[in-house]
Amino acid sequence: MTTELTHWIDGKHVKGTSGRFADVYNPATGEVQSKCPLASAAEVDAAVASAAKAQPAWGATNPQRRARVLMKFVSLLNRDMDKLAEALSKEHGKTVPDAKGDVIRGLEVAEFCIGAPHLLKGEYTESAGPGIDMYSMRQPVGVAAGITPFNFPAMIPMWKFCPAIAAGNAFILKPSERDPSVPLMLAELMQEAGLPDGILQVVNGDKEAVDAILDHETIAAVGFVGSTPIAHYVYSRGTAAGKRVQCFGGAKNHMIIMPDADMDQAVDALVGAGYGAAGERCMAVSVAVPVGEATADKLIEKLAPRVEALKIAPYSAGADVDFGPLVTRAAQKRVLGLVDRGVEEGAKLVVDGRGFRMQGYEDGFFVGACLFDDVTKDMDIYKEEIFGPVLSTVRAGSYEEALGLAMDNEYGNGAAIFTRDGDAARDFVNRVNIGMVGVNVPIPVPLAYHTFGGWKKSGFGDLNQHGPDAFRFYTRTKTVTARWPSGVKEGAEFSIPLMQ
Ligand code: NAD
Repeated sequence: MTTELTHWIDGKHVKGTSGRFADVYNPATGEVQSKCPLASAAEVDAAVASAAKAQPAWGATNPQRRARVLMKFVSLLNRDMDKLAEALSKEHGKTVPDAKGDVIRGLEVAEFCIGAPHLLKGEYTESAGPGIDMYSMRQPVGVAAGITPFNFPAMIPMWKFCPAIAAGNAFILKPSERDPSVPLMLAELMQEAGLPDGILQVVNGDKEAVDAILDHETIAAVGFVGSTPIAHYVYSRGTAAGKRVQCFGGAKNHMIIMPDADMDQAVDALVGAGYGAAGERCMAVSVAVPVGEATADKLIEKLAPRVEALKIAPYSAGADVDFGPLVTRAAQKRVLGLVDRGVEEGAKLVVDGRGFRMQGYEDGFFVGACLFDDVTKDMDIYKEEIFGPVLSTVRAGSYEEALGLAMDNEYGNGAAIFTRDGDAARDFVNRVNIGMVGVNVPIPVPLAYHTFGGWKKSGFGDLNQHGPDAFRFYTRTKTVTARWPSGVKEGAEFSIPLMQ
């Protein structure tokens, strides 16, 4: 039976009124399990109006009280962890332990935001001039919005709404229409934690809702995460409308394996980072770059049997499953099409997962693990973000050639080097033009109190997500110059004041 999902407006589940819906699948079975309402511009407008009404009182609530809501939210997330992970896996397809990781990486940002009062403190200069004090304060932008992707339906919404709300804003969340249930559950938990109605609104939808957000006069700031073409579109349209916008896009993350690397460690890293979550991670390693023919031969020899042995199954099949299905039939077809193209282009398909069938789940969106060797820069499988369980190996003749590959790539989200040589690692860290870099760490996702963001076509805008940058993004600085003259008042000043 398919259920009809809702929006979350003013602290209540609200049915969609546009008459448009998106199918939400169980990717393991291929069945439609629910229908997600797709908001019209009028529904977005109504949500924004009630957010704008609720925001001033929330903005005026002292920051410690606001932080206590997040403190309670963290404990509720822990209480409901199993329920959240199950709902997440059922719509996304990732394994239950991985779904818990998705929730926990969001929870950690909620924990960080409990410290918001400290991050919202302003600066103060006493006696900047005679009888003059100068101070700055951080004030909420008002109503902010977040547009999030399907691949982390718990973590990324929390990366967006936790700092925005802790900073005193109201927030409109437009989650992915492919897995909208967990964002609705998070909104319920925020209400249970004490958040006033109207401060977090979940408006489900597609391009129509996104465009309504981008054009809405009341929304002051928009955070986006998704594919690069849409990130660029959202950035261009949102900034043209005068908003503050930060957009995080796609990726093609390289992992360089130097001849002196611990090969077992590198192989473990590649298996997890290349195939975890079926490769549907913006920080997945999708390109392995062994340096030197001997390194490459050793790598493929050790890697191929590990990739062949990966256990692929529905999330419900137990804790030892390595990865599950892709999110939709369209994603499955696209990934299989790219693997075919790689073969046609002359890459060597060392492990061919195209024929993978799951008994009892023949209609699921599964793709078996694929491993390519002898991939070159001109091939589509190298140029495109595959977003599936497919790892490409590009053999490099030297360290400079390997570094050049990562540097020349249009994406700049993550990159890693595996080596025992501190000098090579240091050189790589200094020179590579990529936002998040790992040294013997394949997925260098920064923790909540640092910031997350890619360079080049992986990020548009100038502030990163979470960490102190998030509080800069969701607040505006106001600087006050105050004079309390004593004694005789002077006349008007007509030249620019100088603090002499
Ligand atoms: P997507 O771009 O298809 O969708 C992202 C959001 O944009 C969704 O909410 C969707 O409803 C909306 N959207 C889709 N098409 C639109 C259109 N034409 N106009 C306006 N809005 C539109 O991305 P996805 O498939 O959900 O997520 C996967 C992508 O996200 C990958 O490219 C991945 O690398 C990227 N990603 C990046 C990061 C990062 O931090 N850099 C993190 C996670 C995912």
